[in-house]
Amino acid sequence: MSNGKRLGMVVDQERCIGCQACSIACKLENNSTSYWINVETQGSDIKDTPIGQFPDLELNFLPKLCNHCENPPCVDSCPEDALQKRDDGIVILDQELCTGCKSCLTACPYNVIFFNEDNNLAEKCNFCAHRVDKGLEPFCLICCEGQAIHFGDLNNASSVVSKIISGKSTFQLKTEEGTNPNVFYSPPRPKKRL
Ligand code: SF4
Repeated sequence: MSNGKRLGMVVDQERCIGCQACSIACKLENNSTSYWINVETQGSDIKDTPIGQFPDLELNFLPKLCNHCENPPCVDSCPEDALQKRDDGIVILDQELCTGCKSCLTACPYNVIFFNEDNNLAEKCNFCAHRVDKGLEPFCLICCEGQAIHFGDLNNASSVVSKIISGKSTFQLKTEEGTNPNVFYSPPRPKKRL
């Protein structure tokens, strides 16, 4: 039975400066072997290289993490029920149940489940469920230098995330997969020459 919440995130690309603070904060908070958030350079094949011709250059960033999908194929793929969608929408991976079969790594269309070679178990972003359960926000949000990350209940019209989505154009990743991601991106404004 759902508790009526649908926790989600909005990343404001206009404010993301690509500093990787979110990646490092996440790794420290979760003591993970992999970076569960990866900040990619958008539109360029070469990391940290702007697109365009000088002086009309643009450099935008896209932090990628688990989308806590409404229809998560990882959950269906796990033979041990180690992946579960909670009532508040968070998709958690219970390492106590994981046997390291890697089915979820193949099922996730976003490549955001990682394999820990030290313990032979899968791991991924859990929206800092341990913090959320105490009324706190995910640690990536707390450490974001550009204040680009917003978190809250997408089912609550007065939440910050709902207000951003209703007031700005946003996009989700790989919507064609039918996963209905709960991570949204607010794209940067087109740059103007001075
Ligand atoms: Fe599962 Fe991947 Fe969706 Fe996260 S992004 S809920 S790991 S399918």
